[in-house]
Amino acid sequence: MKRFLTLGLVLIFSYGTAQDQNPPNIILMIGDGMGLTQITAGMYAQGNTTVLEQFEAVGLAKTHAHEQLVTDSAASGTAMACGEKTYNGVLGINPKNERLESILEYAQTQGYLSALLATSSIVHATPAAFYANVDSRKKYQEIALQMSESKVDYFIGGGRTHFTTREDNRNLIEEMRDYDIVNSLKKFEKSTASKIGFFTDEEEPKPIAQGRYPDLDEMVNATLDKLATKNKPFFMMVEGSQIDWGGHANELNYVLSEFKDFDKAVAAVLAFAKKQGNTLVIVTADHETGGFSLLKGSVEKSSVSGKYSTTGHSAAMVPVFAYGPGAASFSGIYENTSIFKKMKVLIPE
Ligand code: MG
Ligand code: ZN
Repeated sequence: MKRFLTLGLVLIFSYGTAQDQNPPNIILMIGDGMGLTQITAGMYAQGNTTVLEQFEAVGLAKTHAHEQLVTDSAASGTAMACGEKTYNGVLGINPKNERLESILEYAQTQGYLSALLATSSIVHATPAAFYANVDSRKKYQEIALQMSESKVDYFIGGGRTHFTTREDNRNLIEEMRDYDIVNSLKKFEKSTASKIGFFTDEEEPKPIAQGRYPDLDEMVNATLDKLATKNKPFFMMVEGSQIDWGGHANELNYVLSEFKDFDKAVAAVLAFAKKQGNTLVIVTADHETGGFSLLKGSVEKSSVSGKYSTTGHSAAMVPVFAYGPGAASFSGIYENTSIFKKMKVLIPE
């Protein structure tokens, strides 16, 4: 009798522990160039509301690069993806010239599935920070080669040409035999392959205001549908890439439409996290773009206008929003490299 009781207790105990220690899914969403004024403008422009209001914890991240106050997307992408500050323009390599392991790669070694979604090309600096190690973000052909060798389970983005029209005459898409490479959302949704790549464009996808296809929330939902059925935890990075490009162009309408596309994607992710549970969602930016100040407008009419102080980036801290297991650790003020560390401790060794 005593033995049965002990066995029962052991079973209950181990069951309870396994439940508690289920590794969380981690979804990192980066609005490139999405500083506080871009969020504020986007919120007022869409009826004084954003899904970001539903997050549990808010913090601020310092974005400076190694030896440079104003970062670019490569250095800040590396900081968040790999946990170390580096020089502007550099991906996945620290100032001592050491190759860094990204959070995506670390998660893979711990049995996680992985996904990368971007509204730029998939070889652009922000997504590339999660799989590439190159001394220049402009080496698109080298980055594409490293992408083709990475084991990212699902990816969606532009830039197909860097895989097929190459100086080394290789066709990386033919070489990526593990993958089903598709060219539409329907084919992505229908595919039963364990690894799927969806190229949305030969080069850089166009702005959403010019009819970019698909919307980011559709990319998110299609990918989450796949990940949710796999019975494994996952790491996913989702980038709203072109908020930054609107900032560089000093075109507020470009920023607002890209913010709206991104905000809808955040809503899709948050709905998944609420339904699924055990999913940490982090929404942040790599830096602010344009030095934008919001100066005029009307809450009632959902209109906003303002001024830019640069066609480049600014050094302002960026907000970090978190929801789900571990969210509280994202409150406060910290370096953007801490985002890597705060995610990493949640992945059991
Ligand atoms: Mg980017
Ligand atoms: Zn930029």
